[in-house]
Formats: sequence, C-alpha cells, structure tokens
Amino acid sequence: MPGLTVATATVPGTAADTATEGTQMSESVVDTVSHQTGETLLDVQDLKTYYEDGGLLGGDPVKAVDGVSFEISRGETFGLVGESGCGKTTLGRTLIQLETATSGTVSFDGTDITELSGGDLKEWRRNAQMVFQDPESSLNDRMTVGEIIREPLDVHEQGTARERREKVRTLLDQVGLMPEHYYRYPHQFSGGQRQRIGIARALALEPEFVVLDEPVSALDVSVQAQILNLLEELQEEFGLTYLFIAHDLSVVRHICDRVGVMYLGNLMEVGPTEQLFQRPENPYTRALLSAIPEPDPTVQVDRITLPGSPPSPRDPPEGCPFATRCPVRIRPEDIDASDAVWDRIREFRDVIRERSRAEQSIGERLKERLGFDTALADSEEIVDEEFSDVDLPRDVREHVEQAATYLSDGDPDAARAYLREVFGGQCDTETPQYYDVDDGRMSFCHRHAQEHVSPGDELRRRGYDTHDG
Ligand code: SF4
Repeated sequence: MPGLTVATATVPGTAADTATEGTQMSESVVDTVSHQTGETLLDVQDLKTYYEDGGLLGGDPVKAVDGVSFEISRGETFGLVGESGCGKTTLGRTLIQLETATSGTVSFDGTDITELSGGDLKEWRRNAQMVFQDPESSLNDRMTVGEIIREPLDVHEQGTARERREKVRTLLDQVGLMPEHYYRYPHQFSGGQRQRIGIARALALEPEFVVLDEPVSALDVSVQAQILNLLEELQEEFGLTYLFIAHDLSVVRHICDRVGVMYLGNLMEVGPTEQLFQRPENPYTRALLSAIPEPDPTVQVDRITLPGSPPSPRDPPEGCPFATRCPVRIRPEDIDASDAVWDRIREFRDVIRERSRAEQSIGERLKERLGFDTALADSEEIVDEEFSDVDLPRDVREHVEQAATYLSDGDPDAARAYLREVFGGQCDTETPQYYDVDDGRMSFCHRHAQEHVSPGDELRRRGYDTHDG
C-alpha cells in the first residue's frame, strides 16, 4: 500500500502551536508495504439501507444504500469515494451497525452482524469503531481528554479503574500525545491533535475494523499527512482493517489498497486502487477521475462535465442509477438523431423528472427553466423553447409534442412514462450486472457486454478525451 512517512511531530498542548505540526503531505509521501493478509474480514452482500423520513405524506423511502456487495480483506484499507450524498457515509455506518440494514448481509469474520442484537451486538461493537470527520464537534468539550478516551473502556467495564487510566496513558503515547494531556480539554488542542484524540478513543477497545469517515478532510493539508501517517503506523502495529471514506481522491489514492466508487447508493466500480486510477473503466469513474489534475503534463485528459445533478435517492432511475447523467447512455436503435438532439431530449426528460423533487408545479419549473413569464405554457411553446435551435427529425418531433401535450394537460407522470418508452434504451430499463473488466476489478455497466461499444471508445466517439482502456 502506498503510504506516508511520519513527519517529526512535536506535540504541543495548545492550538496556537498548530503551525509546528508537520510538513506538506506531498513532501512526505513514500511507498510502504501492504499489510493485507488476503483473508476476508468483511463480506458484504446486496446490502440496502433505506430511510423512511417521516414526511407528512409518507412516500417512497430514501434509498441511501441500494444493494452493494464487496469484500474487505483483513489488514486492508478499502476506500469509498463518490460525490456527497452518494451513500458512502451511510454504508460505513451500516457496516458497524450505527445504522440498521434494510436487507442484505454483513458477515464479519463469518458472523452476520445484521442479525445481532442486545448483549451480542454490544459485545461485537468492541470490534468495530469509527473515527469521525470533524474533530471540532465529535469530542465532548466538557470532558477531559482522559475521560473521552476512557469512556468506551468504562462502558464495557474493561479492567479496574487504575488499569483503564493506564490504558489511556498508553493510547495517548501511541497516537503521539503527551501524558499531561490527560487532564486537558479538547478546546485546548489543534485540529490535528483533536483528531489524534478521536483516534485514541476509537482504538481504546482494541477493534479489528475501523471506519474512517473523512478523517483528514477538516484538517490543514500540512496536518493531513501526519494523521495519515499515524493511521498507517497504527494499522501496522495493531493489524487494523480500515474502511476509508473520502471525497479527496488524491488522499484515497495514497492510502487505500482497493477502492469502491459509489453513485446514488450503488457501487459503480470496485478494484485495486492503482489500476482503477490509471485505467478507470466505468463511465462514472471516468467522469469522477477526469476532475483530478493530471500529474503527467504529456497526458491530456479533459474534464468530463456531467449534466444536471444526481437524482433524488428517493426516486432513483430504473435501470442504471447513472442513466440520467451518463454521457454514453445507450440509445434505442430505432431513433436516428444527432448527439445535439439527444442532449435536448435528455434535458427535457430531466425537467419532467425533477417534478417529483419540486414543491412547485411542473408548469412553474418549466417556466423557470425555459424563461416563460406567462401562465402554464402550451405544448407548442414548450417544444419550441426546448428544441428551437436543433433540427428535430420528424418522429422525434411527434414524440416530444405528444409528451408536451401530456404536460399541458397537467399530467407530467404520463409525459415522463411516454418519453421513457419511446426514448429509453437498455440503460433506462435494465439494471446492469457487474463485469470483470480487469484482474480483480468489477464495473457496473451494460457497455462492457460484447454487443456494445466500450465506455472508453464511446466517450472518444462523442468527443471526450478520456483515460485509456
Ligand atoms: S449502464 Fe448505461 S447509463 Fe449506466 S454507466 Fe453504463 S452506459 Fe452509462
């Protein structure tokens, strides 16, 4: 696993000393040896976590995690990346039973922990802990550092009071803090030091598995390297297994052995970190990684800008979760239209789809989007405004006019269903399967089937500069 050298850390006692905490991460990155054993510690199968959010009218549940399967080896660091709201934190919390799974299994060393309750669950919880993103708010400012770290030991009645205090002092040392910090309060520490306190508390019960939820994203870059170094040292020393949740792709690339790319509650691609970063296969992974500046100036990869925003997890698309934004969505063969026309059709379908999110009527949203200032637009106006600058083939025009008529009649659901029927392809109707695209790498996309043009080739055909593969 790539890792970080430990910068010389002075561990002062006040926030004013933050500036002494370390060097830039980029200066301290070196390769270290992987600690994985290859033995599966965590086996997740078709896991779903849905929320009923208690809205006034009830309605559909929020599908935060919508059927993910993967394994984590003992001693491995498995990364989870994706846009905010993709479900990665909910997935992490479900793996350690801070959230209740709706269905599916999480086997931890062979035991399905979603079935545990009461004393069994409490006992198992010692095995799995979490380090939170924000060290400013995750520590109780009314407790001393010693009390904060000792609390899990007290709750689980570990040893005598004296042994617990000794254990806390050992933990302080292991995370690079000083014995005298025992009696200080969190507000007397810098962000990096507070995260060290959070890590010490997470390790107090000697867990095997730790969920690190954006553990360095609230810290200065100079401090991030130190915390990442510490996490790697502790992993080596105690044989820990990590789930590392992050939106910072460069941090993930440095610290993770394997990565899962999440979108709308689904894993779009899973595989060894370097292969996935160098040769992404899934269209969503390609788009996500195209946003990272390319370190090699001879490699030209233009950013793939995705249209629109992710759909609501309360109303995810049927078929592929990425279908509403995918730049290489498979089109139906019986419609012959230009790329520009297909872009307009997608926009038109988006507007109608967003109806379920908006409190305002579809007429209001259309007026806002298309700039109308009159009452509900009639179907002719709608078609003119959305499609005025593209040359519509006759059959496409007939279809959009029919949908616009449904809209004008106040029936956006019928318009949506109609457009889906006439313009939807395989991506809109069939859930993809996982394809083995490389040694140990899986991608969730119809385009890996033999009868289709691959995602990379299709992206290039549509004018994108994308990664090889
Ligand atoms: S299945 Fe279709 S929509 Fe989904 S990523 Fe592949 S090409 Fe895009």
